[in-house]
Amino acid sequence: MGMTGLQIYKLLPKTNCKKCGYGACLAFAMALSSGKTKAEQCPDMSEQLKLQISEASLTPVREVVFGSGEALIKVGAEKVIYRHEETFYNKPCLAVSIEDSNIDNFTVQSRSIADFKMERAGVTFSVDAVAIRHSGGDFAAAARLSPRNKALILIADEPEIIGEALKASPDRKPLIICRGASCDNIIDWSINYECAVALFASSFEELHSEADKLECKNVKNIFFSLHSTLKERLIASSASRRSAVYFRQRTYPFVYMLNDIIDEDVRLISACAALMRYAGCIVLPFSEPASLLPLLTLSSNVYSDPRRPAQVEPGIYKINEPDNTSPVFITTNFSLTHFLVSSEIEVSRKPVWLLIADTGGTSLLTAWAADKFNAEIIDKTLRETGIGDKVSHRTLVICSHVASLKKSVEEKTGWKVIIGTGDSSGISSWLKNFNMELLR
Ligand code: SF4
Repeated sequence: MGMTGLQIYKLLPKTNCKKCGYGACLAFAMALSSGKTKAEQCPDMSEQLKLQISEASLTPVREVVFGSGEALIKVGAEKVIYRHEETFYNKPCLAVSIEDSNIDNFTVQSRSIADFKMERAGVTFSVDAVAIRHSGGDFAAAARLSPRNKALILIADEPEIIGEALKASPDRKPLIICRGASCDNIIDWSINYECAVALFASSFEELHSEADKLECKNVKNIFFSLHSTLKERLIASSASRRSAVYFRQRTYPFVYMLNDIIDEDVRLISACAALMRYAGCIVLPFSEPASLLPLLTLSSNVYSDPRRPAQVEPGIYKINEPDNTSPVFITTNFSLTHFLVSSEIEVSRKPVWLLIADTGGTSLLTAWAADKFNAEIIDKTLRETGIGDKVSHRTLVICSHVASLKKSVEEKTGWKVIIGTGDSSGISSWLKNFNMELLR
């Protein structure tokens, strides 16, 4: 736990001089405790207090950063064991490893990883990092050619090979996985290239003792990994999170190298287990990017914030290029509802105007039950979207589950209401059989 506002306030100069931009020391203390300002904003704060605050604000699961620019990866800094206790903040880095033995092959495969993107329920899925695995090829050339829109991970057992790759791509701030690295190598890479490093050991105690030595030398971006079975690593990772959350024992995110699991299904299940047990980075061998979708979906679900409903922007969505004779549908801004309804309309290939009402991100029936999807909200949506200027008719299609709204909506809006399907899966066939004469 960080310091509370009152704990900080007691240690401030209490002159209320306002040099920090706040009206009084107490206001500054409150803002500082909630992370809205920085200790440096108070010029009169003692160095000792600054240090005390920055120490107290560190999460026991340390934040680890690597990569740069659009490929910046931030993992760790988690505060809870279970997502529902607050939220998980930083998704694990999902990396695909490619061998350097054939540089042409490397270029093709890394490009396919770099270009892979998929949208689901308003969320874009993609791979976070390309990991280059040394297998006798030109490691430095592969590092130089690796896509810059993905973070870089360098995997080689020989420190000299890593050193050459770092010289070839000095600004990438990669994660280095090198079992043969000495403490001096790690300090050198960390200071000169701002790399993150993975530490390997046979026990938790060993990992902590190595991390202690490195922290003293200002090496901060560390991953843990154990020389053990996957099961033992999962147990260690859980124990580590527990001791961090319950006893504030400092720890680091774990990296899982799953390259050596041959069976694709077993590998995917192992990756999902690692993700559920607090992995900070998961490295998988190259395969069709689409085969990663189950893992990406799981990651997106586990790391979504349970305190905020997943929602899309309310407004007007054009599907299949509608014109002024096209039907108008309305639903709520829960992203899954939007995703299902818009996908079904797209599949039908029929042009439709889809209106999304602002119901605070709740699904249709939840919104209706809470009186957030009613005649007033629908009327407001019709007016705010300006749909009346885009179509020549005044007919609105609503889901049959909220058919009871028909009369009140017609009275409030002056629009005719047509009752559509109850389930989004029926929209496509409903639209194909829809009598357009009803809109005249
Ligand atoms: S600058 Fe420091 S001493 Fe002055 S009001 Fe802000 S917190 Fe108080």
